[in-house]
Formats: sequence, C-alpha cells, structure tokens
Amino acid sequence: MAVPALCQTSAPAATPAESALRVFDPSLIDKTVDPCENFYRYSCNEWFKRNPLPADQTSYGRFTELAELNRLRLKQILEETAAPAPTRGTYENPRSGNEQKIGDEYASCMDTATVNKLGLAPLQPELDRIDALKTTADLPALLAHLHELGVNAFFALRSSQDFADSSSVISFYSAGGLGLPERDYYTRTDAKSVETRQQYVAHMKKIFVLAGEPEAQAAKDADTVLVIETRLAKASLTITEQRDPQNLNHPTDVVSFALALTHFSLPEYVSAAHAPAVGKVNDMEPKFFAEFNALLADTPIDQIRTYLRWHLLHAYAGTSLPESFDQENWNFYSHTLNGAERQQERWKRCTTRVDEELGEALGQVYVARYFPPAEKQRTLEMTLSIEQAMDKDLDGLDWMSAATKIKAKEKLHSVMNKIGYPDKWRDYSTLTIVRGGVLGNQMRAHEFEVARDLAKIGKPVDKGEWQMTPPTVNAYYDPQMNNVNFPAGYLQPPFFSGKEDDAANYGDMGSTIGHELTHGFDDEGRQFDKDGNLLNWWTKSDEEKFNDRAECMVRQYDAIEAVPGVHLNGKLTLGENLADLGGLWLAWEAWLDKASAAHLDMSATADGYTPDQRFWIAYAQQWCTQTRPERLRTQAQTDPHAPDEYRTNTVLQDLPEFAKSFSCKKTATMANPKPCRVW
Ligand SMILES: [Zn+2]
Repeated sequence: MAVPALCQTSAPAATPAESALRVFDPSLIDKTVDPCENFYRYSCNEWFKRNPLPADQTSYGRFTELAELNRLRLKQILEETAAPAPTRGTYENPRSGNEQKIGDEYASCMDTATVNKLGLAPLQPELDRIDALKTTADLPALLAHLHELGVNAFFALRSSQDFADSSSVISFYSAGGLGLPERDYYTRTDAKSVETRQQYVAHMKKIFVLAGEPEAQAAKDADTVLVIETRLAKASLTITEQRDPQNLNHPTDVVSFALALTHFSLPEYVSAAHAPAVGKVNDMEPKFFAEFNALLADTPIDQIRTYLRWHLLHAYAGTSLPESFDQENWNFYSHTLNGAERQQERWKRCTTRVDEELGEALGQVYVARYFPPAEKQRTLEMTLSIEQAMDKDLDGLDWMSAATKIKAKEKLHSVMNKIGYPDKWRDYSTLTIVRGGVLGNQMRAHEFEVARDLAKIGKPVDKGEWQMTPPTVNAYYDPQMNNVNFPAGYLQPPFFSGKEDDAANYGDMGSTIGHELTHGFDDEGRQFDKDGNLLNWWTKSDEEKFNDRAECMVRQYDAIEAVPGVHLNGKLTLGENLADLGGLWLAWEAWLDKASAAHLDMSATADGYTPDQRFWIAYAQQWCTQTRPERLRTQAQTDPHAPDEYRTNTVLQDLPEFAKSFSCKKTATMANPKPCRVW
C-alpha cells in the first residue's frame, strides 16, 4: 500500500512509502565499512545517505520513519472525520461521538485564522483568576484549578499504586514546577549551562511581552520565575536519584502530610482538586515539599502570581494560542534546546495533539485499519518464546542462588503480556469538544484526564489500562503492574513484519520484547516482586553479585563521551543498558531454539548473509538515527537511554556470539575482551 494520497502536498520528502520499509534491509549496508570495527556504520551508512535530517526534526531515525508514516495514517483518519458529511467516505453519517470529537478537535487545531483572531481572549479568565490572588491562603484552591488545566506549577497530585501494596491506589504528591528539562539545568555552572539559562530567561521575557507586559516588567518577571524555579530545583532529586524507587517512597497519612505544610492548606487543595479523600498518601520528595512550604512563607504574593502566570502561559503556548506564542515556544524548546531548524508543519502537531488528548478514540480506528489479528497472534507467540528463553537462562545463571532463582521465576511467570491495544477502550463520552474552540478543548481535555486519573484513588487497580496510545512507536514495562506493553503502532515494518522471517523479526522486535521483559529485572525493576510490590526478594549475596555485574556496565557507559565535554551517565542509563543487553541475548536464545526446532540451515545465505548475520544486522538497523548535536547534548544529560550508536555497538561488543557470526578477530573494536554481562 502506498502513502495515502491525501498527503502529497504536506508530506516531507523523507516520509517513507510503507512498502519500502524492511526489518532486515541489505540495501542499507555499507560494505566498505568493516563490520568488526563499526557495526553501526556498516549496517546503517546507506540509510544515512538516503535520509538526511529533515529541517523540522531534531533527530531522525527508523523510529521517526515509522512515526511519520503512522502520523500520515492518522491524518487521513482525522481529515475524513473532520470533513463535511457528504465527503466523509466510510464514516457514519452522522458521525459517532468519537468521530465528532477527533474530527472537530483536529479541524479546530488546524484553524489558525480563528486561533489568531481570538488572541489571548480565551485564556483571559484564567489570567484574571491568577491576578485576583491576594494572599497565599487562597493559593490551594487556585493551584488545584490550575493543576486540573494541566499547568505544571509547584507540584503534581496523581494516583498511583502504593509501593508497599500494589493492589491499592493512593495519592502520590510529586515534585514539579520547572520550565527547563530537569533540575540540573538550574545548578550546573559550565559556560554552556549558564548560556542556556540566559536563553530561558530571554524566552520567558518574550512570552510575557506577547501577553501584553511592558519590556521592563517582563524582564523583571522572567528573573523572578528563574529564582523561584532554581529554589524548587535545588530541593528536587536528580533524575539519577529518581530512578531508585526507594528514594520516591515516603508513605504517610494525609493528616501528617497536611500538618507539615504549615503555609498551604492541603485539605482545601484536595477538596478543590475533587480528589477522593483517602488516608494514605506518598510524599514522594519530602525535601521538595519542605522547600515549597518555606517558599510560600517568604515569597511576596506578587512573585507567586508571576510564577503562576508564566506556567499558565507556558502550558498553553502551543497550538492553542496565536502563532506568535507558538513560534516563540518552538524557538526555545525545539530550536535552542534541541537544534530543530524549522517548525513542524501544523498538521503534524495537530495530529499529535489529538493522539495525546483522544488517543484511544483515534487509536481504535488505527488498529482496525493497520493491525490485523494475525500480527497480534505472531507477536504474542514471539513474546512467549522469549519468556521461555528467560526461564531457561535463569536455570543456567552461575551467579544466582537457587532461592533467588525461584523468586525470579515466579516473577517471570506472572508477567502479563499486552499486545497492540486495550481490551476495553476508554470512554470519552463526558468530554466536550467543540469546533472552533481550540483552547477550551485543550482545557477540557486536561480536566477530563486529571479527573479520570484521580478517580482511581481508592478503587481496585485496572491492569488492563495502557499508558501509551495504540499508534505510538514505543513500548514499556510497568514494574508496579508487572506487565509488558507493545502498542500496535510499533508492531509494524521496519520493526516487525508478517512478511519477513524469524531471523529478522527476532533480531529487531524480539530484542525489544526481551528489552521490556529485562526491565522487570534491571536495577529498578528487580526491586519489585511478582505482584508489583516494592519488596526485596533477593538474598544479600545475590544482590551484591548483581550490583558488581551492573557496575561493569556503569563504568562502560560512563567512559563514553557523547558530545565534546559531555559523558554519558552510566548510572542514569543503567536500567536501559541492562535491558538492551539482556533483551538482545534473550531474543538470540529464543531465535536459536526456534531455528533449531525448524532445522534451519545456518549456512544457507539470503541476500548474501547467513541467518545469524541477518539477525544481528536487523538488530542494528532498528537504531539507524541522525541526531543534531544540540539534541545529542540534551539527550546525554537527561535521557535514561544511551544514544542509538551505543545501543548498537556497545551492546554488541558485550556479546561474543556476535563477533563469532562475523569472524571478528579478538583484537577487533567490536570484540570486547572483558565483556559485561548481567542477564
Ligand atoms: Zn527501556
């Protein structure tokens, strides 16, 4: 099937035709590169030549390639549902409730003439409400309201499973309130970081000016926000500290938590937030909440108002406000921080927006069109075979005691496999979407989502719920649910194809299935038991052996300089690196078992490569990615995933089986003489 015809005018040159995407693609290989010296370059160089970085992207790889294709498919669905009745094609006439919502939200978002004409007017009642704040005593009700609108001011309240009892849903209070990507952006003292903060202040000033403030006042206000955010940042955990769930587990009762907040009435906040009153809460970062409380005591009220005004404008400075806001927002967050040269076309951002707000209404149509039941079945079989490989692998582990192995197996056998899409779709019937009211739509979508989330407090856990929408090109493991989740949008070429053989599919999607499964046993996941409770099931000595082995990988990735002067953070990326290595190993084992059962001739070549070589090339080719230096810097500083080049080469260097497939010498770069290995 070709790219949908609707898209000829707006599709970028790099958008692939579906038929061109292959899981194992020999035409991408650069035979002038020695596979034993740089396997990433060997597997991807021709793809790099064919796919220069589009100006609107900060990185472009095979994930973006598929995400762009999925976006074209969603665009077609949205244009059909947004169209006047007679041209609506296959859609119900009149439209169903979901069709009306996704179609009208997309049409409203695309209607820049109306958005520009309305200006800041739709947001004015909210700005007035902030202006009316006279004392901190009135802050709880206002803040609860702003949180319902999706504004990231000070902290966040959400529902989550109790770390100690995963069958119970309680209130989690988490640190928040920052406009830069994470807390270290406020504390680092190198020249580049100082410059980034200056650029952030300049950005806030421009937004305040666009909102009608005189220049001098806007400059002063931007400085005020930076001071408040720096204080919050300093009291927040680093992203590395946040990876240890023990650091985020401070259960208390709501009365004690309220008593500690001497300058903020928690009961008033909870009531205004319409959150169920349940006794147990998790104060995720006590140091942060103490600082929040102290800040309220000594910060003048006009500065609190300035801070709230910034976060309200910031939350809506995208497709809901006039293009001047939208452009300035892009300029700082996409261009300055990540190096994008051109803003994404509006239809792309509006499509993404509908996916975020109404993902399961849009995703339902996507699944019906692009994810046949046979592909769901084949992915499930692959998942089961990889779980079997892990079972066998646990038997063979020489460093783990029998007692811990029993617990590990219990956990493995309890993993729930979720493939493609939810069994029960989300009900959007209480969400009102109107044509031409894009800002109001966004506000109600936030209110709907916050209410949906908070309503879970005190109710039984719904393990069927998804955190990603069906068209998403990604997957995840949830440690508190002990389940793996693979959205339909990812189970597509070039990552998985019903038309290609097992060598290709196991090397690529199989390694991802293994990756998600291994997350259940990485440095974070291993702290949760089979039911998702934060409960240590390891013997002391096994825990030490695990940590020793993990330390090898921490050192390995710490040594990588991703951009001049910026090394990867081995501790921050440990969980992902463990999952990459363990996952690929499991996929390899599962594939070998399957190949042997099928009496596959391992010396027979296809396209000039043996089956095992095609397995490794398919693995590497999923990571072909071009990244702008600015984005690479942000990624190295904030992303728990290593950049794609290392997700290929560093992982393969730790697997001697790879070097064997390509007859690499012991001294080759791709053969690590002392490989790290945990799972
Ligand atoms: Zn991962």
